[in-house]
Amino acid sequence: MSHYLGLIERYRDRLPVTPGMRIISLVEGDTPLVPLDNLARAAGHDVKIYAKFEGLNPTGSFKDRGMTMAVTQAVHEGTQAVICASTGNTSASAAAYAARAGIRSFVLIPDGKIALGKLAQAMIQGAVVIQIQGNFDDGMRIVKDMADAGPLAIVNSINPYRLQGQKTAAFEIVDALGRAPDYHCIPVGNAGNISAYWTGFSEYAGVRPATAACAWCDDVCRFERPAVCASRPVMVGYQAAGAAPFLRGGPVADPETVATAIRIGNPQSWDLAWAAVRESGGWFAELTDEEILATQKLLAEREGVFCEPASAISVGGMLRDIEAGRIKSGSVITCTLTGHGLKDPDTAIRQSQGQVLQIRAESDLVKRAILDRL
Ligand SMILES: *Cc1c(COP(=O)(O)O)cnc(C)c1O
Repeated sequence: MSHYLGLIERYRDRLPVTPGMRIISLVEGDTPLVPLDNLARAAGHDVKIYAKFEGLNPTGSFKDRGMTMAVTQAVHEGTQAVICASTGNTSASAAAYAARAGIRSFVLIPDGKIALGKLAQAMIQGAVVIQIQGNFDDGMRIVKDMADAGPLAIVNSINPYRLQGQKTAAFEIVDALGRAPDYHCIPVGNAGNISAYWTGFSEYAGVRPATAACAWCDDVCRFERPAVCASRPVMVGYQAAGAAPFLRGGPVADPETVATAIRIGNPQSWDLAWAAVRESGGWFAELTDEEILATQKLLAEREGVFCEPASAISVGGMLRDIEAGRIKSGSVITCTLTGHGLKDPDTAIRQSQGQVLQIRAESDLVKRAILDRL
């Protein structure tokens, strides 16, 4: 038995690392592919549903997959600090990996609208937190202006190393199932992750995608190698109705949604995400905040899986598309649950109001309350 040491060690031969490179890792990846049998039974149509629960990464979101690669590369290049714009999870992850590497981190977060857990992580991990009077897209624009400000590495998903790390989630899914799923359902914000999954699924199928996730992909991705699996999934990307540029056909000026992690109006990986959806025969669809929150609750109540609102959108959209017949009967479906529910305790508590019984500290009263509900 060997000690798992993170996704770079596990998939080293498919990643841009060289022997002797100092690997900055928090032992991320290797997340569980959780069967959602209760939801599958309720959905009918003989489907098999699995959740890739990325909330179980070290800082509680899939961002760690990309950050281990991006910070490893930044340190290799002698960078002294990392910078990112973030709706929360990227800053939490950047701060953690920078701390690990012994370099500084600067994070730009939007005014308000950041989930409490994410802010707590960035702060305690020593990031310089810069709250701007604007949204994520404003932060992204400013960070791009910092590109030549000094020895700083931008660790948003425009950094191609991020996508290389993130493609390993697709490898893990295929390794766990012994095949590619028929459909992969995923939340879409800045659209890096859907692009990374498509690269990963394509690489494992031995197929070169029309638009690879970075210019030097040919040197790193092993599209020409013997395939690990026979096919690639249909890629389905879900957006919040108030922040759905892929459904509107262009940038959205004032994105608004309870799912703050995908409150993004001007996705940076626009072309890559479209390529993934078009090439795979997939589609984009949108969900309202009410549908997103209802799905977050459904997952928690029926499956005991607590993810953040942005993550629940993949499952909510999938269930609707099964019912509509858009996702075919008998399919094997995987959904990415991008982040942990504990990231955003306020939203979870707000939508569970009234569920706490207030009772005097007397056994009889408590017993009666229990018997009433059995
Ligand atoms: C970053 C993030 C997303 C969006 O991923 P993109 O790569 O920006 O599309 C979705 N959910 C959570 C929890 C995230 O942190």
